[in-house]
Amino acid sequence: MKNDAKGALIVYSGPSGCGKGTVMTQVLAERDDTAMSVSVTTRAPRPGEVDGKDYFFIDRNAFERMVAAGELLEHAEYNGNLYGTPRAAVERQLLAGRNVVLEIDVQGAEQIMDSGADAVTIFLAPPSMQELARRLRKRGTEEESVMARRLAIARQEMSHAHRYQFFVINDVLEKAVRDIHAILDAERLRYSRARIDWEDE
Ligand code: 5GP
Repeated sequence: MKNDAKGALIVYSGPSGCGKGTVMTQVLAERDDTAMSVSVTTRAPRPGEVDGKDYFFIDRNAFERMVAAGELLEHAEYNGNLYGTPRAAVERQLLAGRNVVLEIDVQGAEQIMDSGADAVTIFLAPPSMQELARRLRKRGTEEESVMARRLAIARQEMSHAHRYQFFVINDVLEKAVRDIHAILDAERLRYSRARIDWEDE
């Protein structure tokens, strides 16, 4: 008997600075059944970010063309910049049986939840707001005013955590990574996603 389970659409959010990227990078390094969706954004690249890997960096015109053509699964404005998930790549991965992770803000996540899509939703939280502020400051790639705005947005985002199915606290990195693995492993076993070959030996 064999189960070639379908991939799951994973919606993954958490305030900026809570370690979302670090946790998911480690999870993905440890499993080959899961891929990250690469978003389009109008934000300028940060030092070290690579076009086509971290994001597809595009201008507002190109972004608006994609919205008009229905090419984005969801999109939102965050801190003055536009972000969106290209639909085609996500559908390709799911068909291939791979989970796809959308690391998106709460507005985008709620669009997916409200669309009735069969998504697994995970909220990653910092151990405390003080720790979040400390981590944001340590990153230091942005001015103090931008950081203060991100902290205000973070508080606002935390108030949407109850809409997600899973709540993971990123206190100790390894523990958060283990928690995400546990969620993905259990989702692989969900009967509704099973593609069972009863005859296989
Ligand atoms: P950053 O500028 O720090 O990379 O991302 C800012 C916020 O935008 C983060 O919360 C990130 O998860 C979110 N984000 C990144 N890509 C997308 C996307 O495609 N759609 C939405 N709705 N949010 C996104």
